[in-house]
Amino acid sequence: MMQLAAHIELNLAALKHNVAKVREYAPQSQLMAVIKANAYGHGLIRIAHALQNHVDALAVARLDEAIRLRQADIADTILVLQGVSCADELQALQQYHLDVVVHTEQHVALLEASDLPNPQNIWLKIDTGMNRLGIRPEQFSVILARLQQCSSVATAIKFMTHFANADVVHDMSTAKQLQLFNATTQSVSGAKSSANSAAIIAWPASRQQWVRPGLMLYGASPIRTQSAAELGLQPVMSLYSRLIAIKRLAKGECVGYGGQWQADQETLLGIVSIGYGDGYPRHIRHGASVLLRGRRVPIIGRVSMDMLTIDLQACSDANIGDKVTLWGEGLPVEEVAEYAETIPYTLLCGITQRVSVLVKDAE
Ligand SMILES: *Cc1c(COP(=O)(O)O)cnc(C)c1O
Repeated sequence: MMQLAAHIELNLAALKHNVAKVREYAPQSQLMAVIKANAYGHGLIRIAHALQNHVDALAVARLDEAIRLRQADIADTILVLQGVSCADELQALQQYHLDVVVHTEQHVALLEASDLPNPQNIWLKIDTGMNRLGIRPEQFSVILARLQQCSSVATAIKFMTHFANADVVHDMSTAKQLQLFNATTQSVSGAKSSANSAAIIAWPASRQQWVRPGLMLYGASPIRTQSAAELGLQPVMSLYSRLIAIKRLAKGECVGYGGQWQADQETLLGIVSIGYGDGYPRHIRHGASVLLRGRRVPIIGRVSMDMLTIDLQACSDANIGDKVTLWGEGLPVEEVAEYAETIPYTLLCGITQRVSVLVKDAE
């Protein structure tokens, strides 16, 4: 049988386990699964299908992501987080039965100028300090009054905000943002939502009527000081490849582009078929490792487009064809992200087209 080189394995049982974990953290809240950016690299349609009947709604960043879900017959409630910017896009919301975030006065004007056949479901987003999307708290009462009077808007308006620093457990700006959100919306009865993954875990008061987990659904820890395992999360994506060559280097010989790594003794070298062309980070620091035969094996030299090299000193029994874990089961993506001076989000999102996908589902 042909063996796959670079590929990901997606564990959908782990996805469902993580959903159940979110429900344990936030038992009173409804769960809106964030599946933007191709479900953080796990496959938009595939993840939406797997989540059916397990979550209360789905969220994507952009209208076209939502339309793709509808075209794949996903019938769940879907929220478009970035909103829409013209009348045609409003019509598309209606056509595809999508909910939308209203985050600027322009959206209000757009709704007022429209004459929609079905009242549009909206979430009004308030900027409580992140200074990205959302109306200012000072605008809240005026804008809310306009929305309440607008015949194109459904009556049950919901309210949301987004945190800038929820992953930093001792950063009081999250408490301040939450306080401002609650103070701004205290006179209204509609459902509220503020928590992303980090807040669901670290800021219990932020759980409110709806939570919006992304990263934790995929089994990565949103908090640097706590591992996914400690939080009870299981990785959904594992990235694997194979050893395609083994060779012996004499002392003094160099490895890879730029000859950056030099053998200070006779060295057994392994070549793994994966590189930045697959989404493995090129700028990984010295000290990073892969998993081979259950052992940590250090990466040496530069990562190239299709290959990287490993030091087989501690794994001299390795054979060509052996499966190598780059991240996932047994090697948290968070750890790789640390060595790559990035965050797990970018690694998961960055898996490229050529990487094959194997789906495992316990059901
Ligand atoms: C991406 C996003 C989330 C999910 O964030 P995670 O950190 O992945 O849990 C929640 N809410 C909004 C508005 C987002 O853009």
